[in-house]
Amino acid sequence: MIAVYPGSFDPVTCGHQDIIARAAGMFEGLTVLVAANSAKSPLFSADERVALLRESCAHLPNVGVEVLPPVLLVDYAAEHRAGVIVKGLRAVSDFEYEFQMALLNRRLRPQVETIFLMTAAEYSYLSSSIVKEIARFGGDIEGLVPPPVRRALAEKFGQQQS
Ligand code: ADP
Repeated sequence: MIAVYPGSFDPVTCGHQDIIARAAGMFEGLTVLVAANSAKSPLFSADERVALLRESCAHLPNVGVEVLPPVLLVDYAAEHRAGVIVKGLRAVSDFEYEFQMALLNRRLRPQVETIFLMTAAEYSYLSSSIVKEIARFGGDIEGLVPPPVRRALAEKFGQQQS
């Protein structure tokens, strides 16, 4: 079975990476899909986000990373023979929106199932936006993002790496 894991990944964090590694262990193949237009003004371009994800997942042979073209996620999944959409859940606050999306996607294509993986406790407070906020003001993000992302953020915000 092939699964897709969609998100904005602006940029990928250790929380995402944990979900990717766990899902990769459950499925034959996992395609991480970077939604190009989901964040209104992303810090990283879609291509930069893909490149950072690819670097961060290079050790996982059954994981691929692509930009999600402007089609419905369930249509992309069906076309690429993916039977499962993987989502991560951090807190109750994620639930309402994810529940709505999962039900809508099931209505659109009942054959594509959505599954939820609970965040690792140590990453439950982590989001791409909080990481960007810390990095913007020069805070230490070691252990919160994969090393290539730490470098890319330092470059974006014009900081020396310690
Ligand atoms: P963010 O909300 O950080 O901007 P995305 O939109 O890129 O993240 O999220 C893609 C998917 O990853 C969503 O299913 C989201 O719930 C999940 N996710 C985000 N951060 C974490 C985390 N720290 N732990 C587990 N799942 C996460």
